[in-house]
Amino acid sequence: MATGHRLLLENARQVVLVCARGERFLAGPALRSLAVLEGASLVVGSDGFIKAIGPADVIQRQFSGETFEERIDCSGKCVLPGAGALFRKTLERNEQCSEHYDTVRHRLSIFRFSTLFAGLVDAHTHPVWAGERVHEFAMKLAGATYMDIHQAGGGINFTVEHTRQASEEELFGSFRQRLQCMMRAGTTLVECKSGYGLNLETELKMLRVIERARRELPLGISATYCGAHSVPKGKTAIEATDDIIHNHLPRLKDLGRNGDLHLDNIDVFCEKGLGAELGAQAISHLEEVSDEGIAAMAAAKCSAVLLPTTAYMLRLKQPRARKMLDEGVIVALGSDFNPNAYCFSMPMVMHLACVNMRMSMPEALAAATINAAYALGKSHTHGSLEVGKQGDVIIINASR
Ligand SMILES: [Zn+2]
Repeated sequence: MATGHRLLLENARQVVLVCARGERFLAGPALRSLAVLEGASLVVGSDGFIKAIGPADVIQRQFSGETFEERIDCSGKCVLPGAGALFRKTLERNEQCSEHYDTVRHRLSIFRFSTLFAGLVDAHTHPVWAGERVHEFAMKLAGATYMDIHQAGGGINFTVEHTRQASEEELFGSFRQRLQCMMRAGTTLVECKSGYGLNLETELKMLRVIERARRELPLGISATYCGAHSVPKGKTAIEATDDIIHNHLPRLKDLGRNGDLHLDNIDVFCEKGLGAELGAQAISHLEEVSDEGIAAMAAAKCSAVLLPTTAYMLRLKQPRARKMLDEGVIVALGSDFNPNAYCFSMPMVMHLACVNMRMSMPEALAAATINAAYALGKSHTHGSLEVGKQGDVIIINASR
């Protein structure tokens, strides 16, 4: 009897699986050659998970007579290996993608062309907030230091103030728009932090907004409590820590137990390089990590989430991506989207990782797919095109 499936993507010139043997991350020599199929098709089942991938003729025989809610012919364009075209073409699409939003569904960014890629994973963002800080960028360009801006009432306290005042509906409205821009740039799974409340009430408001987006929008969200983002005005570091331990964390535990909030990660700040030893799944930034820190991360299989936009916009020292890759660290990428680093685009992040951090294109692609999923504890379901994984696929037009 004929079975119904959600989607058939036929005859793609190239399907970039990223990995194909159930790997949870890629590090070391495995980064030199990513898994790619030529002349292939892909089937997404009615549950939204990948049902089959393989040579186009094999898939055609296997699924002949079966029905699909949607069928997309991906043939007709010449595609050769190389992620450079992905960066370029996806950026081109971004500029005109507002009218393409209605094609984004089933967690699928459809650009109706002929190379299939695993959806991009953004492993580090701060996307829920109110209070634009464009004026601070102007101040910085004019020579103001971080402390000048802070003393003028700017910096994180400005965002905290506005986020505390904003209604849940206002926060959700701007958050939804930002997520839509990220989807249009090819992101299908994104980590979203709280952290502009710094009091229990506002942190919970932000986490409820993230929870609502998880339920209503067609992209994957990994929610992170980041209540220790900064010491709030009027409190000492010790008072703020006590508040988190005695008020925030117990409340989050209750809400999680009742199913009211779904929290995937908790962010903590380590200034003395103890992350890997503490058993962290991932550590972000790492502009100042020591050689010992790098060795400890490699040994502990703790992933390094590098943030090229932050290093670029704040003119920081670049993290030593090459050293980390050569030592076998699981390198992942994130946009660090926040009021200071207004970048929705993982292709742009990958581009900066290649140019400024000297990563190769396969390394940048693995860092923005399977390794970013690993950093979020989701590489068993996301980050590559493999049977049984979430059907998060980007279809792009590229000649090579
Ligand atoms: Zn950040």
